[in-house]
Amino acid sequence: MIYYKTEAEIELIRQSALIVGKAIAEVAKQIKPGATTAHLDKLADEFIHDNGGVPSFKNFKGYPFASCISVNDAVVHGFPNKVELKDGDVISVDIGVYKNSYHGDSAYTFAIGNVSPEVLKMLRVTKESLYKGIEKAVSGNRIGDVAFAIQDHCEKQNRYGVVRELVGHGLGKSLHEDPQVPNFGKRGSGPKMQDGMVIAIEPMVNLGVKEVWYDDDGWTVRTKDGKVSAHFEHDICVRKQKADILSSFDEIEIAEKANAELVTAS
Ligand code: MG
Ligand code: MG
Repeated sequence: MIYYKTEAEIELIRQSALIVGKAIAEVAKQIKPGATTAHLDKLADEFIHDNGGVPSFKNFKGYPFASCISVNDAVVHGFPNKVELKDGDVISVDIGVYKNSYHGDSAYTFAIGNVSPEVLKMLRVTKESLYKGIEKAVSGNRIGDVAFAIQDHCEKQNRYGVVRELVGHGLGKSLHEDPQVPNFGKRGSGPKMQDGMVIAIEPMVNLGVKEVWYDDDGWTVRTKDGKVSAHFEHDICVRKQKADILSSFDEIEIAEKANAELVTAS
């Protein structure tokens, strides 16, 4: 069942989604060699509470942390831990915020220090694919149009692996609502999108093969070949001419740029 949102509801989702972006930006400022992901999770948890929200992920189906932090071959749902980050790591930060009865859910992937051009390109292409999907999220199109745009850019144009097991989703009062939003599929297939539909679009893309496996912790999804993976996620509202992006990468990208300048300067 797809719940179409009222304008008031859309604004509440936007509020939550914007806190997510700011939380990821706070985390981003501390992403550097020597930092632990457990520390980053603590920062996210505190930031969300300080802004009047609750971390959506904590206790969601038993998930034990405020954030999902997935390093290198971890695709998504990585557990924050005490392992120190190091130069060359790739780290995805996925955060959800629940406030005023509505969820926001967004993710971003960062390169730490000196990462190979091959991996940096994969991060860029994955982010591009998110925006190519968003371009298709207009009234009258179908979910398959979004899915195809992402898959085409990542797999056909760039030969990366698009994860099949995990998909984007509707969101609102619940973190995961209908419809499912896969990152692969056929044009013209799936549910028709209409004004007021709010969905999280979230390509999960592997440098190597598309296949994944579940870590012993029962949550962490890893690439089968051990190669790096990327994950970018925006919440959007379907509109007639152009989707309205409810989450924001603005502050995240400022923090990312500042980190890159520190590396160049050192
Ligand atoms: Mg997410
Ligand atoms: Mg999501």
